[in-house]
Amino acid sequence: MDAILLDAEWSPRPGARLTQAALAQRKAAGSLAWRNPLFRAAQIDDPTPGPREVVIEVGACGVCGSDTHCYETDDDGYIIFSGPVSLPVVPGHEYAGRVVATGAEVRTLRPGQLVAAEGMLNCGVCEACRIGRPNQCPHLEMVGFSAPGAYARYVAIEERFCWSLDGLAERLGDARAAMELGALVEPIACSFNGIFVAGRGMAPGAHVAVYGCGPIGLGAIALCRAAGAATITAFDISPPRLEVARAMGADEAHDPRALASVGGSPADVILQVTRGWGADLQLECAGAAVSTMPQIERALAPGGQMIYLGRTGERAPVMLDVLVTGAASITGSRGHVGGGCFPRVIRLLEQDLLDAAPMITSRRPFSEFMSALEQSCTRADGKIMLTYE
Ligand SMILES: [Zn+2]
Ligand SMILES: [Zn+2]
Repeated sequence: MDAILLDAEWSPRPGARLTQAALAQRKAAGSLAWRNPLFRAAQIDDPTPGPREVVIEVGACGVCGSDTHCYETDDDGYIIFSGPVSLPVVPGHEYAGRVVATGAEVRTLRPGQLVAAEGMLNCGVCEACRIGRPNQCPHLEMVGFSAPGAYARYVAIEERFCWSLDGLAERLGDARAAMELGALVEPIACSFNGIFVAGRGMAPGAHVAVYGCGPIGLGAIALCRAAGAATITAFDISPPRLEVARAMGADEAHDPRALASVGGSPADVILQVTRGWGADLQLECAGAAVSTMPQIERALAPGGQMIYLGRTGERAPVMLDVLVTGAASITGSRGHVGGGCFPRVIRLLEQDLLDAAPMITSRRPFSEFMSALEQSCTRADGKIMLTYE
């Protein structure tokens, strides 16, 4: 079958403390061990399903910032993505498609069904998995990074990671549109996990601020709108993304640099919008904590909650006393497994309660993968969606 392969040079960084298992399996954080990445088109064997697996014919797959982070390198040539990577691999983890084959022990799926699938393969038996922390499973394999992904005609995946899109396809009356929205479930489910599972949830009537309008921030905006936010104020340095933020439900969307040029700041805007109260929920989806934390501190409402979804290797300045005086909290969150993240996001789409479609700002055929990846480096799109014939 046609596929894209990502390969790189295994070259553990001097001083990186990798375990014996990591060295033996050549599986480690991309940024610590893999250098000089190369994406290329390749022909590989079609997958066959294991007993508990299904084979999905991929219909749509989004290009993720993490893919961009495997394409871009730092000054030493290492890929930027810091999750577990084992190469070569077929990348692509935000996908939906049609089940075309099922293993002997598969119980709930049959050929012909449309599904979206989780991209973080937790083991299910370790202590983290069994106490309800599947996203913190130490044995996690990541689709498209350490397990075969969806930049290919077919992908094999265990039944337990798949969720039906049949209801969505029925409402839309269009399988292709259902698969495109289905491919957005993965990033939106990450936002859902942060707000409603890892966090305390969002009360209707809350004032919300979102820093960073990439797919995670955009998903958060749409979810908070669906959950009854009073106001949503969004920030990003990309003007096209600010447009998408408004289309997905933000009341206001600002470029912090433009605010600074006239002596303003995100915190000033939030305090103005909320008449001095501050934001009850602030979501850091920018991975720019050095710049965003001081704003978040200044604009936090009494009892306010900050949810940290961005990634950065830098230490951020935080005045923790603000948490004491304001009875406020910071919650971190990673992933989209468990907690009802996938099925609830699908249900919101199915009932037309979540406006996710504006996130797709480009559609490219799978054959144009390489230029779509180049395009992702401009960080101007909401989501670039690859579609498969
Ligand atoms: Zn992703
Ligand atoms: Zn586990």
